[in-house]
Amino acid sequence: MTSGPFQILPGSPQLFESAKAQGDFARVCESAGKPFYIETFGCQMNVHDSEKVAGVLMARGYRPVSSPEEAEVIFYNTCSIREKAAQKVFSRLGTYRKGRDSDRKIIGVLGCVAQQEADRIFERAPHVSLVCGSASYPKLPDLLDQLESGHRRITGLSLDTDECFETEMTRRDNRFRAYITIIEGCDKACTYCVVPMTRGPERSRPSNTILSECRRLAEEGFTEIQLLGQTVNSYRDPAPARLSFAELLARVAEVPGVRRVRFTTSHPHDFSADIVEAIDRHPALCDQIHLPVQSGSNAVLQRMRRTYTREEYLEKIHCIRSAKRAISISTDMIVGFCGETIEDFEETLSLLDEVGYDQVFSFKYSPRPKTVAGHLEDSVPEEEKGRRLSVLQAKQREIQNQRNQTCVEQTYEVLVEGFQPRLGQAVGRTTSNRIVNFPGEPSWLGRYMNVRVTASGPNSLVGELATEQTAGQVKR
Ligand code: SF4
Repeated sequence: MTSGPFQILPGSPQLFESAKAQGDFARVCESAGKPFYIETFGCQMNVHDSEKVAGVLMARGYRPVSSPEEAEVIFYNTCSIREKAAQKVFSRLGTYRKGRDSDRKIIGVLGCVAQQEADRIFERAPHVSLVCGSASYPKLPDLLDQLESGHRRITGLSLDTDECFETEMTRRDNRFRAYITIIEGCDKACTYCVVPMTRGPERSRPSNTILSECRRLAEEGFTEIQLLGQTVNSYRDPAPARLSFAELLARVAEVPGVRRVRFTTSHPHDFSADIVEAIDRHPALCDQIHLPVQSGSNAVLQRMRRTYTREEYLEKIHCIRSAKRAISISTDMIVGFCGETIEDFEETLSLLDEVGYDQVFSFKYSPRPKTVAGHLEDSVPEEEKGRRLSVLQAKQREIQNQRNQTCVEQTYEVLVEGFQPRLGQAVGRTTSNRIVNFPGEPSWLGRYMNVRVTASGPNSLVGELATEQTAGQVKR
């Protein structure tokens, strides 16, 4: 997944510090408002990291633009969780040429590919000036100092940190939904995953600073808060309050002005009943849990080192299904992992039926460098991986069709997140994370509307604004 570049929003910070006048980069930076462009690949953590990087740049006087052609500073915030995402970055870098572009443009590679490929990026793409992993983002102001002083080939690759990358200057790209990272890194050791190597060890942010940021954001008009972490529910509060993750959820949900709270991504091993109890008690906590399972086969789960069995996972699902309100459940699945037999795959298919997921993000396994699984035999042929993925996705489409069908004739509160001018359609999201399209106005962006669902498909719903009669039966 690629996230779009930053769009220019009004009210940008204007805390320009004059660039230090030396070398090529100093020439680029010598006047106020040098244009920058960030392209983000991967997960919401990366999207939010880019918001923070943009905040640091804007506090130094740079200004965001919407295309790399207009920019003099271009950062790619990268993802290496799958081979395709990493390849995309190198294909972007391949569009620049040493000499032709590098005198005019400063190009930086941030995030997971930066951490994983390190100095090799300079060899493959000599026009790159900065290579910085996410654990080194707290050092970004120093790294920018060096770039502004004319240094080239700057690296920030240390994983030896207990800091979280927080900045007061975060440049939020959405006016009503705010991301807050509450835990960085990962201490799990899934055999296919690069994250523990690229993001470093787990480190949680103190609850008092999270809550004060929530209060500030609510005062600024943000109504939806999304708490982020690779394993968000492994949160361990370093502040004296020692809030559990469920207690933190409850406290965020109680902040005046906060109307919706989501969190992602939960690890099944650390998922506990008190999270479901908190959702039951606090209406602001959304009816949605993303609980990645990856496979329905115990043999595969063991090879993946996921630290739970299918049966243990299903116990957590049972706990969620026992909540007083209906909670939608989504997951991630990998097909064709090393040694996955047809029988293993069939267990994954049967899990789809058993859980009845509302959404599944599914991928073909691709070996990643330096992972444990990278040394195992990638035994499922590419064509067979593709076949399994299609079978899984077709089955899940049917399940989603059925689940979404039950929403027809119901009325839901939706947060309007977009508007399609060509169709005159507003696009909103229910608390259970279902997308609803309905006739609307651009001025409704950021508002909560009651919408009666008139039709459904596997991926979204169609509706109309509720009338006085139907609005009385609003479902969350
Ligand atoms: S829990 Fe596993 S898959 Fe998730 S980030 Fe950590 S190591 Fe990667």
